[in-house]
Amino acid sequence: MTSSLLFHMVEVLNPAVFDNIHAELHKLFDVVAERARVGGDVIFFQIGRYMIYFRYLVDIALLIFYYIYNHTVVHYYAKEMVLEFMIWEGEAIMNDLNYKESSYNFEFPYEDDESKRILYNSRTNALALIDKEKYTYFQNFKERGQPISDEKLLEDLKHGGYILRDDIDELELIRFNLLQSRYNTSSLGLTIAPTSDCNFRCIYCYEKESLKPVVMSGGVQEKVVELVKARAESIMRLSVTWYGGEPLLALDIIENLTNKFLEICEEHKIRYDAGIVTNGYLLTTKVAERLKDLRITHTQITVDGAPEEHDKRRPLAGGQPTFHKIISNLRAAKEILPCKVSIRINTDKDNADQVDEVLKILKENDLNDVAYPYLGMVENSNDCYAESSCYHPEEFSAVEYDYRIRNSSDISNSYPRLIANSCGADSNSNLVINADGKLYKCWNDIGVEERTVGDLLAPASDAAMVPLLQYLMYDPTHDSECSKCKYLPICMGGCPSRRLFRKDTRCNVMRYRLKDYICVISLYLKNNKIKPANKDDDVA
Ligand code: SF4
Ligand code: SF4
Repeated sequence: MTSSLLFHMVEVLNPAVFDNIHAELHKLFDVVAERARVGGDVIFFQIGRYMIYFRYLVDIALLIFYYIYNHTVVHYYAKEMVLEFMIWEGEAIMNDLNYKESSYNFEFPYEDDESKRILYNSRTNALALIDKEKYTYFQNFKERGQPISDEKLLEDLKHGGYILRDDIDELELIRFNLLQSRYNTSSLGLTIAPTSDCNFRCIYCYEKESLKPVVMSGGVQEKVVELVKARAESIMRLSVTWYGGEPLLALDIIENLTNKFLEICEEHKIRYDAGIVTNGYLLTTKVAERLKDLRITHTQITVDGAPEEHDKRRPLAGGQPTFHKIISNLRAAKEILPCKVSIRINTDKDNADQVDEVLKILKENDLNDVAYPYLGMVENSNDCYAESSCYHPEEFSAVEYDYRIRNSSDISNSYPRLIANSCGADSNSNLVINADGKLYKCWNDIGVEERTVGDLLAPASDAAMVPLLQYLMYDPTHDSECSKCKYLPICMGGCPSRRLFRKDTRCNVMRYRLKDYICVISLYLKNNKIKPANKDDDVA
């Protein structure tokens, strides 16, 4: 090669020969540069880069030769060289920063327009439509390491987190968010059972064994107030969920504790909010008025299908029916309740065909403007229900998707949510307090002795550390399966209780339905000209 090069250099009077030399040199150096880009090898890249500089030096030398002998075409070659050099430098800048593709990218076809593709990133929750031409640049970057020269596209892809600096570890970012959220001390969340008693006997109730006519004693109530006082200096928000048993059986305790909480919040300028999970049987207009006065702004009531099925599954302790009473209570209280009531329609293989009937009844009773119905998956918690009746989350995800498609006026509400930590169970700032003063992390654990993480009436015990550490020290970014899972940022290892006791059911439903939701929401957003929250414009 060297001798032929020298030979050609003295023959440079002939433009065709110059072309040949030029082309051959470029071929050689381009192979090196391409290897550097595709391989992503830093040392090789630097060698390639210097070879490219050398190539330009040789080009310049050839041009000088050529200039001496022939002025007419020198302008053409000089311009071409300058242009090429600029492109190379641009590419070098991008390569210097070493961008990489995110590990959390998803790509889906866009039904409305085959010339576009949907890009979704589960770490940033970004959604974009990208046209074919720009997608080709992106694809060349991903597959061949070719730099993206379209600056706008590059910026958009960075903005959505589809590409990012090579030296950023996305798993570390996810871990950072998890730890920040888990050990955030600016709020306190308490789920409080003012009584362990319940007026219902649901067939799948996981608290069956612990339902006792126990109401929270004055002593335990004092301890609860002390606990809140102890945190009052450091928190900015106190969130309370009244739970049970059936909390409306102990409304006077809710009243007493709320008044104490409100005093503390007032004194320390703490934001207060409260909700209640009730079976709705005692939710008369009078009770609804009291709940409103007690600043209880969100209510959740469960129904289990049409009246006959519901009454079989959620009867009173004496066996009497409950469905019509719940609906008539809601009708009467709807003007009083401060905001929408979540109607959890408990669904399993035995009653899934009843969902439409429940919706029809809500509509016939003029409850559509006050009720927010959604499907809840019935689980065999604490071995209290027939496993064969329960859906696996994958099966449930199909039932739920079908329900949402048919009934949601705004399907974009089903857009995936980023999760930092899973729930109160794996957060250091949340506790479940039972009527007897026992503390838990998950409300599924209420009444299960070995799942107690503390006792307001007793000194700390070593045994309590076992469930506490099981919930608080689990890190899905270190889990062999979850750390490699593309759904991790919108799942974070799933429900901690399922992870511990029914691992095969722990994955978030999005694992099974992400593509369906993203595709249908993309169409919905485009057709309704709605931009998803926190998103920039389309990439296209
Ligand atoms: S661990 Fe699971 S069941 Fe328990 S509170 Fe959290 S999400 Fe609910
Ligand atoms: S629980 Fe399942 S879906 Fe969730 S992060 Fe782990 S493997 Fe992925």
